Amino acid sequence: MEYLSAFWTGVTHALAAFLQNLGVVLILLLIAVMVMVLRTMPRPSSRRLKPDAKSHVTWDQVAGLDEAKDELAEVVEFLRDPARFAKLGARVPKGVLLYGPPGTGKTLLAKAVAGESGSAFFSVSASSFVEMYSGVGASRIRALFKAARKHAPAIIFIDELDAVGQVRAASGMNREQDQTLNQLLVELDGFETKHDVILIASTNRVDALDPALLRPGRFDRQAFVPPPDLAARIAILKVHTRVKPLAPDVDLSIVARSTAGLSGADLENICNEAAIRAARDRRKTISALDFDDALERVLAGLQTGRTMSDPEKLSVAYHEAGHALLAHLVSRLSTVHKVTIIPRGGALGYNLVLPTAERVLARRDDLISDLIMILGGRAAEQVALGTISNGAAGDLQKVTEIARAMVFDWGMGESVTTRTVSADNFGLSEETKRLRDSEQTKLCDEAYDEAVRLISAHREALDRLAERLLERETLDREDILTILHDVTSAQVTPSS
Ligand code: ADP
Ligand code: ZN
Repeated sequence: MEYLSAFWTGVTHALAAFLQNLGVVLILLLIAVMVMVLRTMPRPSSRRLKPDAKSHVTWDQVAGLDEAKDELAEVVEFLRDPARFAKLGARVPKGVLLYGPPGTGKTLLAKAVAGESGSAFFSVSASSFVEMYSGVGASRIRALFKAARKHAPAIIFIDELDAVGQVRAASGMNREQDQTLNQLLVELDGFETKHDVILIASTNRVDALDPALLRPGRFDRQAFVPPPDLAARIAILKVHTRVKPLAPDVDLSIVARSTAGLSGADLENICNEAAIRAARDRRKTISALDFDDALERVLAGLQTGRTMSDPEKLSVAYHEAGHALLAHLVSRLSTVHKVTIIPRGGALGYNLVLPTAERVLARRDDLISDLIMILGGRAAEQVALGTISNGAAGDLQKVTEIARAMVFDWGMGESVTTRTVSADNFGLSEETKRLRDSEQTKLCDEAYDEAVRLISAHREALDRLAERLLERETLDREDILTILHDVTSAQVTPSS
């Protein structure tokens, strides 16, 4: 018994010692693992954040984009000589937001501001802030601004701002993203312009940004960076062939003509591919054939549908010309500021129609003018080309909504004029419903007939507009007025 118990105590002691050692080993292991994890975690430290090598981009390397350049020229002035502005008590912008489709030169513009003003350039992608470790995004922002202040004058460029600046969804906004956004707002509000630090951010989708970012005193300057039109594409091609020896048969305006819908980045890519092809064949100059080949290669690599074939362009040109002509003819309240056949977003072309005055009340005749104008695209296709396309889907939807509201909600039908007959009106008889639907149909059909009539009556003006559009791709208000100088407003046949 004695012996046994002694034996057992010995065993227990040994076991205890072993377990103790094991515990120590385990704890050591745990510490080692933690250290390893911490080391792989990005450690934000302003000491380690260095500006990119000095930017050598200058204004003349940025082609087109005059509006954005104007907006940014002031920022350059300020960074060159902040004292001049401070003496006059001027408040200079802290943040500039550049928005537009990818590859149109937003990063390039930010670099040019740094290059022209001799500022340090800090560039980050907002998506890199959105990390899985809590708090890292926020502390990165803090470190970034601290480093920039140390290297002032400085530009901080944040790409894809929407990654942190997205509208906070009521339900599932990621907390980390939220903290990061808050820190960005704190920095924007906190930093004084005396630090000579300016934030430039870029996004493809300004509508997705949290409105808090757009409040005054934050991104108080905004510039649209549009896809390049024909003139801009020629300029971009010139910039990117500046140091490339071209054969005499190369005509950059022809290359530009066949690249509607492509971005500056795509064009740079084409120039580069053409040069590579010539070098591969050990030639001394780049030929027109090299450009043809490069164009095909780049286009094939892009998603389909971004550039249009010639018949498609013709159809879009007539469609947009139809809208513009009818706006000119029937619209009392709005004018066309710009019409273009450069594809953008989901649209193959568009008319920028702006109201001439704030419209609060809508009159029946004005709504009918709107219907006619919106159907003008399809009517022009029908009249000029003898066939219609599915390019009018968006227009038809708009027309349906307007006509529906006119009859259902506003008593603007022909016999339904003193009550609403909307869909949630459960007391409607089948007969009223039928009447309501036929009135809606009648409004749309009559507007379309009127659109066709007007277009046919001004066929020659329509051809002129479409031709100029095909040639120049974008027409502004002045151009439209010049082309339509002999066309005066028409009297709309009222539909009742
Ligand atoms: P974004 O930031 O708008 O996505 P980038 O500025 O990164 O586009 O453009 C990518 C490249 O495309 C640029 O480095 C430049 O070579 C070329 N590029 C784009 N737009 C232009 C332009 N307007 N003028 C000259 N080059 C351009
Ligand atoms: Zn249309």
